Amino acid sequence: MTRELPRGQGTDLHVDVAVTRGRFRLDVAFDVPEGRVLAVLGPNGSGKSTLLGCLAGLITPERGEIALRGRTLNRVPGAHVPVHDRGVGLLAQDALLLPHLSVLENVAFGPRSQGLARNHAHAYARAWLKEVGAAEFAERKPAQLSGGQAQRVAIARALAGRPRLLLLDEPLSALDVDAAPAIRGLLRKVLRGGLPGGDVGEPDGAARSAVLVTHDPLDALALADDVVVLSEGRIVESGPVKEVLSAPRTAFTARIAGLNLVTGTAEQDGLRTPGGRFVAGIPADDCVAGEPAVAVFAPGAVAVHPAGAPHTGSPRNVVDARVGSLEPHGAVVRLRAAGWDGVAADLTPASVADLGLEPGTPVRLEVKATAVAIHPAADSPRADAES
Ligand code: ADP
Ligand code: MG
Repeated sequence: MTRELPRGQGTDLHVDVAVTRGRFRLDVAFDVPEGRVLAVLGPNGSGKSTLLGCLAGLITPERGEIALRGRTLNRVPGAHVPVHDRGVGLLAQDALLLPHLSVLENVAFGPRSQGLARNHAHAYARAWLKEVGAAEFAERKPAQLSGGQAQRVAIARALAGRPRLLLLDEPLSALDVDAAPAIRGLLRKVLRGGLPGGDVGEPDGAARSAVLVTHDPLDALALADDVVVLSEGRIVESGPVKEVLSAPRTAFTARIAGLNLVTGTAEQDGLRTPGGRFVAGIPADDCVAGEPAVAVFAPGAVAVHPAGAPHTGSPRNVVDARVGSLEPHGAVVRLRAAGWDGVAADLTPASVADLGLEPGTPVRLEVKATAVAIHPAADSPRADAES
């Protein structure tokens, strides 16, 4: 179930590895084109961290090869480039700052160990702390930071090492719900190239690629271009993230995605589809009007009414469609619309009978604006510029 991953200017990261950990076996192959962000999406225990450990050099694969920009990092048997020499920056779930060093020294640590003089490394670290909005914490110790502040510092530290490849392991999952949106916005800037280049850019001018591990389809949508879906150590589906999550080809991915997605362009209080339909919703803080966006809502938030039913005055989306399909989905029946991006709605079997629904029946679908989240879509400007 593999859609072709879009081509960048060339393969940046090539991965074809297998490794066994206890009774678990990871066996995957994929490529990441230059400058693109790949999300690795899967439930707990599917092997996401094991994969990232292989890429970072913390775990040695038993079979296969990892190459970054043509340079072999692993080849079995033969090569294993150690962690510090891979040109890889790792951002983990927890910030993992060195507790006895100040914030500034934590960020300067990488540049220092790459041979930069102390005052240079400190100036560089200060510049990065400013970029991530953490300049004021420079003299603090990690213990004096909140979770969100520490994660900002960890982002600065990862970037200060000038990585060719960024690896992110569930970077938002340890944050409380108040801190996560701001850090998600910052990661978008980091991953979409919204942070200034120049001094902090790539020495060779190449766009930086990234692998983002997550169990949250929203993070994949907001931050990545492409996705591979992992189940029990195997890739079950891959391709552009919006395509894979909005039209999953495997039941497994559909279960993980479990969400309705409508793509379009962000507006003040919602999104406009390419077909011109307005979808009212609550925009995320980093939504910018006129930029690509996705409206995301759960099938349980979609109410199904008879066609032509009157609707109430509260802000909501009302769409006339037809029943495309009806399938049992646990205790509910999942209706797929023919007509509105194949939107799914969950109903009780009783209401399916009451409404006399069958494929082809005209229906009126309603979703409250408050149940619709509008997120920036990770449409890469670089990818657009290529085509
Ligand atoms: P994820 O990050 O997707 O939650 P992991 O890569 O951490 O998954 O783990 C995948 C599987 O490998 C799990 O079933 C886990 O129990 C097993 N595993 C991870 N590390 C070890 C280890 N050191 N020894 C034995 N089994 C391990
Ligand atoms: Mg993990």
